[in-house]
Amino acid sequence: MPPTCPLCAALSARLRFQKDSFNFFQCDSCSLQYVDPMLSDSERKRLYNNDELSPIEYYKKNRRADQKTFQERLKIIEKFCSPGLLLDIGTNIGTLLAVARERGWNAIGIDFNHRAAQYGATAYGVDIREVEFSNNGFANESVDLVLMNDVLEHLPDPLSVLREIQRLLRPGGKFFMSTPDAGSGMCRIMGPSWIHYKPREHLVYYSRKSLAYALHKAGFNILWCKNVARYRSLESFIEKGSLYLPSLTSVRKLIPSFLTNRIILPLFFYDEVALLAEKQKDQPGNRTTQNPPEIP
Ligand SMILES: [Zn+2]
Repeated sequence: MPPTCPLCAALSARLRFQKDSFNFFQCDSCSLQYVDPMLSDSERKRLYNNDELSPIEYYKKNRRADQKTFQERLKIIEKFCSPGLLLDIGTNIGTLLAVARERGWNAIGIDFNHRAAQYGATAYGVDIREVEFSNNGFANESVDLVLMNDVLEHLPDPLSVLREIQRLLRPGGKFFMSTPDAGSGMCRIMGPSWIHYKPREHLVYYSRKSLAYALHKAGFNILWCKNVARYRSLESFIEKGSLYLPSLTSVRKLIPSFLTNRIILPLFFYDEVALLAEKQKDQPGNRTTQNPPEIP
């Protein structure tokens, strides 16, 4: 029997494939994809703190590229709301916090990676709290904007996270997130080789349909949704791109490494989706309907 769907609690799911000794299921009811077994919370916390997953060196190396990514994302968000108190969940070394601060936000980050939080606070003077999100200490309706860039797919229980975000946001407050798009053409073409199928890190995989369902169920209205790019250094671009196009590795030999680290490009395979949602003013996060409105 398949494990219970982490989003809709259905017990009916199809085994799609196996990879690295993990099973990949797809829920028959809400279409969410998820891995089984999932590493335990303590094991994942150990791997993140040992820099075996999401290592801080990667974020230090790509800081300039991340700054560009977050500038673009905040520009979009600011079309819908003015700067106020911002909370960035899974902030790592806090690159987004520094960018947001320059744009007038009061920016606070959360990350349970001790080294990342320490580094961000020391190197950039940003406010990073080393806490679990489930025990964040923020008051009800105290935050204007919550962000989760490439985080929700790392979490085993999406609804409890989304409902906690609901609790923190003031009425009308905004939530921005990005995640790999498991409904994308790239995912379908690559199958189990898709770069984002990483079962120790990515526990759940959303399509636009399952995202719309999750957010609707947690009491959000989606205002904006698009495929987005993430900027990366040419070095990272070659590294990731060579998984799809092995010949790219020969390009690296032609370009001096100071240039491959210096040049920044948008990494855009149409397989990352971002959305901006608004907390419902009149409804708590407990909707039960199976039929969310279409994503705009
Ligand atoms: Zn489901």
